[in-house]
Amino acid sequence: MSLDEALAGKEIPDKIRETLVLVSVPYLSFEKEIREGQLVVHAEVAAEVQQLFMRLLEIRFQIEQVIPIVAYGWDDAVSMAANNTSAFNYRLIHGTNRLSNHSYGLALDINPALNPYTQYDGEVVPPGARYDVGRPGTITEEIAALFKSRGWQWGGDWLRKDWQHFQKPM
Ligand SMILES: [Zn+2]
Repeated sequence: MSLDEALAGKEIPDKIRETLVLVSVPYLSFEKEIREGQLVVHAEVAAEVQQLFMRLLEIRFQIEQVIPIVAYGWDDAVSMAANNTSAFNYRLIHGTNRLSNHSYGLALDINPALNPYTQYDGEVVPPGARYDVGRPGTITEEIAALFKSRGWQWGGDWLRKDWQHFQKPM
């Protein structure tokens, strides 16, 4: 899809919209095929995100699919349930009224159905998901280190775990 298609149907402030780009990223699927996905990210991290996904491919980290969240009606819960990897979504941090780093294209959620997060109420989402480093596609310390070496923060290091989440402070 095009950038316009990837941003369709969502009210996004111009100041944010003009910083966003659509990047293609290669990945290894769970069928062990090399596929191409798309991510909407902030232009400043576009090249770095592509490099990170190339690195994940090199070490044969498996990813279910990488489709802009517009395909899931901008609904994070639906995208997570589909184990979809995504970046930009104009939304608040769950349980708060603050804009998420996803709103700036500066955060990534990878294989969310394998790398769940814990809500403020203690509920783990997506429903039924559990974190098990023995399964392919799970973000381990080793995977997280790739991102951290480039200045990204990992939600797996937080007190309230968000295993799927990486964000780049800017
Ligand atoms: Zn996230």
